[in-house]
Amino acid sequence: MIPLADLKTQYHSIKAEIDAAISGVLESSQFILGREVAAFEEAFAEYCGGRYAIAVNSGTSALHLALLAAGIGEGDEVITVPYSFVATAASIRYTGAKPVFVDIDAASFNIDVNAIEAAVTPRTKAIMPVHLFGQPADMDPILAIARRHNLLMIEDAAQAHGAEYKGRRVGSIGDFGCFSFYPGKNLGAYGEGGAVVTNNPEAVRTIRLLRNWGQEESYKHILRGYNYRMEGLQGAILRVKLKYLPQWTEARRAHGEAYNRLLAGTGVITPAVMAYARHVFHVYALRAPNRQALQSALTAAGVQTAVYYPIAIHMLEAHRDLGYHRGQFPVSERMCEEELSLPVYPELTEQQIETIAEVVAHASACATPVQSD
Ligand SMILES: *Cc1c(COP(=O)(O)O)cnc(C)c1O
Repeated sequence: MIPLADLKTQYHSIKAEIDAAISGVLESSQFILGREVAAFEEAFAEYCGGRYAIAVNSGTSALHLALLAAGIGEGDEVITVPYSFVATAASIRYTGAKPVFVDIDAASFNIDVNAIEAAVTPRTKAIMPVHLFGQPADMDPILAIARRHNLLMIEDAAQAHGAEYKGRRVGSIGDFGCFSFYPGKNLGAYGEGGAVVTNNPEAVRTIRLLRNWGQEESYKHILRGYNYRMEGLQGAILRVKLKYLPQWTEARRAHGEAYNRLLAGTGVITPAVMAYARHVFHVYALRAPNRQALQSALTAAGVQTAVYYPIAIHMLEAHRDLGYHRGQFPVSERMCEEELSLPVYPELTEQQIETIAEVVAHASACATPVQSD
């Protein structure tokens, strides 16, 4: 079986260092925040090209606190995409603000920059582009719109550690960059984790307060905060893993490029790497008009696949009250029907990629031809 991800093999490749880091935390007993978390924050900020990183307990918390530090709340609107993980929109709703959706672009799978301006209203406070699947959104035009309308920019970089837009690392391009260290992400903890990256010292203070119950000092709560602190163990583990992220990212990129080469002309639509992007292939997302048949063929051949995402956020029952309906975001809706993700984790071998590509090529050759667009 070829799994979609293989966290155990990766652990074994760095076991001695990880075990030592874990034992160090146990010995220090700094289980919440502490030295290891602070050291990780410093290293991660530097990695992203930002001045500060504030570590929290999930990517969702990172988004929530970045929005709060941006002053967003009840009555405000934040422009984002309906084709993402639900946390993107949910974090906006946590603040009382309303997510206003803009469709994605069919090539990049990221926010359609030509559709943003029509969604701006007097209530719009921020734009939250998602660097989906590891490919940066087209930041220059988004920043130009943000400047023109005096909007903040909060990057959802949960899937894009180390991705670059015109040579700049994501997460440090907008006002805030939000990362997730969920185990399956490109940089994954051994539990939950997240971070906000920013250059704004004022915001750093607010986010540090908010993640720890708004405490300025023990039991002196000056803000209505949360328990969003990162655990010491996760900080220590992430600090070890961050050293390996560049090599793991190179492996993912090589796998993505190998698939694109091997699958060209097979009847599936391979993901485009935009000219401005250094894609880090968190997900290898192809489009297959005959997705069901292709997924079945891969399953039968022992290849695990996934669909990101079967239902766009505007169509989710949980967010029906936003008042959107089917047909409003046709590109997103079509992706939900056609997207299929192949294994792309760093430890995958060339042989395995060739095997997977052969199954895809064979299955799409057998499928009835479909009209291209
Ligand atoms: C994973 C993810 C999140 C949420 O991160 P958690 O750490 O799971 O809370 C947010 N946005 C996107 C696009 C994600 O993929």
